[in-house]
Amino acid sequence: MKIYIIKASAQSAFKDYKQAMGAPPQSINALAAAAPEWATVKILDETSQAPANEQESADLVVICMSTPDALRGYQLAEVFRQRGIPVVLGGLHPSFMPDEARQYADAVLCGEAEQLFPQLLNDFYEHSLQPLYKSENPLTMQGLQPYPQALIDLKAYGNLNSVMVSRGCKFKCEFCTVHKFFPHFNVRPVSEIVDEIKASGGQYFELHADNLIADREYALELFAALKPLNIYWLAEATLNIAEYPDILEAAAESGLFYLLVGLETPSQAALDAAGKKFIRISRAKENIARLHDYKIAVDSAMIFGFDQHTEDIFEESLDFVADIQLDHCDSVILTPFPGTDLFNRYEREGRLLTRDWSKYDCSHAVFQPAHMTPAQLEQGAERFARQYHSLGRSLKRYWHRQKNLGWQWQSLTSQ
Ligand code: SF4
Repeated sequence: MKIYIIKASAQSAFKDYKQAMGAPPQSINALAAAAPEWATVKILDETSQAPANEQESADLVVICMSTPDALRGYQLAEVFRQRGIPVVLGGLHPSFMPDEARQYADAVLCGEAEQLFPQLLNDFYEHSLQPLYKSENPLTMQGLQPYPQALIDLKAYGNLNSVMVSRGCKFKCEFCTVHKFFPHFNVRPVSEIVDEIKASGGQYFELHADNLIADREYALELFAALKPLNIYWLAEATLNIAEYPDILEAAAESGLFYLLVGLETPSQAALDAAGKKFIRISRAKENIARLHDYKIAVDSAMIFGFDQHTEDIFEESLDFVADIQLDHCDSVILTPFPGTDLFNRYEREGRLLTRDWSKYDCSHAVFQPAHMTPAQLEQGAERFARQYHSLGRSLKRYWHRQKNLGWQWQSLTSQ
């Protein structure tokens, strides 16, 4: 049985952002890993590879998609179903909007894939495919199959491997899908991560976790096990990592060279209201400096449109990211993705302006902001990006990177 697994991706700011992050995505690789041996699987990531081959011969097509890619996913589903090939939809958007997704699919896969996919394939094989597969119990990550290296075109990701470490987060930020999609925080046994890294033979890895230091004892155990492997790795974690000297040192010694942190905004009031009280903006500069002491680059986005933001936030954010010497920053418009508490609140308050999911790409104002017009929000976010990339600011950043990161920035980020 031939299964074509696609990560749908529409041309958008969201795609550009995800492409720049550049590691093999969890959705399609977790599915491919969970497929039984009797299935022949092919995967295609439209974010980093070519568009899906609409003429691909397959018995079953599985399409994963986030909200900004939902229309692209539905369009692909229609093409394959017109060819008589059954389609399953999965990933974030179908999991949060299963009734909508069912209109475009033969089955919808909600939640973590691993525990449902073998059953779904078995049902399909026996001509008893159900319309909805929904994970009810938390998945144990022990014994998780490694990503299928033979199916992944690493060149599309700049030779950056990805290894699953943990899922979920102990925090519950209002705008975040993580704690909704993974209601339980789960870690993978360290020995299985080490085995997968060794077997891959790679040197550069994304350690896939929504918040790598959510369990600090586990993080220490993991970093100690990674140290002898002589690898380089990047990950997502809160900036609070810098407040635990033992964890930071162990992370650096085990190969951490690039950290994505959710700093979001210089407005502490906005962070507090969004459930991110644990980030203290007043300590950001000092914490980033601690990461720089270990030559670790720090990347974060500035999110615009919180209820506490006025039009001053764009200029304030430019000054902020320069002052704290952030190494890379993207401009993002707050986006109430379906499934989040933010989406539900805006819906209750009558502030959602559209359900055109293609506009939920973090570059459009899809809700009514509290203290500006949607146009002012979009123009302000654009202005921030333009000024952030101006020659003067870029040169200043280059100089800071040389000072803070030296050779490491040049050589590792070109991998
Ligand atoms: S800390 Fe990050 S991953 Fe965790 S809920 Fe908040 S935004 Fe999501």
